[in-house]
Amino acid sequence: MSDERHDDTAALVLFSGGQDSTTCLAWALTRFRRVETLGFSYGQRHVIELDCRAALLDGLASLKPDWAGRLGDHHTLDVPTLGELSETALTRDVAIAIGADGLPNTFVPGRNLVFLTFAAALAYRRGIGHIVAGMCETDYSGYPDCRNDTLQALAKALVLGMARPFELHTPLMWRDKAQTWALAHELGGEPLVDLIREHSHTCYLGERGERHPWGYGCGSCPACVLRARGWEGYLAGSTGSTPASP
Ligand code: ZN
Repeated sequence: MSDERHDDTAALVLFSGGQDSTTCLAWALTRFRRVETLGFSYGQRHVIELDCRAALLDGLASLKPDWAGRLGDHHTLDVPTLGELSETALTRDVAIAIGADGLPNTFVPGRNLVFLTFAAALAYRRGIGHIVAGMCETDYSGYPDCRNDTLQALAKALVLGMARPFELHTPLMWRDKAQTWALAHELGGEPLVDLIREHSHTCYLGERGERHPWGYGCGSCPACVLRARGWEGYLAGSTGSTPASP
């Protein structure tokens, strides 16, 4: 099934060091023979998330020997242009708020489109057939580039535009945060849940001073609130679908 140019048993995971992308990485490690990761530096205020990756990768490798054997190269790409273009609360020191268009000002226009396009370009060069990303339409804060329709359309464009049969996987698309914690438990039991709790980073403000039951963060930005609420839902065992408020 695989050749040098297109390995159908290999996956590239968009890995930022957050809860979602770490869970996606574990998901990929259960399914693909070779798994490489890609992170982006785009001027994000929470660039600390990229520093979390090393501990997470070490932790994943020590959880299961077959995961250690499957973990391949790790890549980081600089995309400073996104930060230059964006006047957002993720890339500027401004308060997080809801804009007139109903979107939080943490929205970085085009971010996921750019990320996935670069991911496909890297996958092309590395001969990787599958791309795995943690976008989610359930808890998505209204970000239009997290919608399944957006990503399906982009996946089609990438396959056409690069003439490679990439498959785009978004295992979290229809899961809320409680269900994402539950998926981590399913994939790696308590040790994986503990690893994600301790070492993954979610807080938009880059805070890692205070340790909460669900991990580190400021505790009040939208990302922390979502993570905390998901953790409580997971503990309560209520992993059924609970519509997120927009
Ligand atoms: Zn926070």
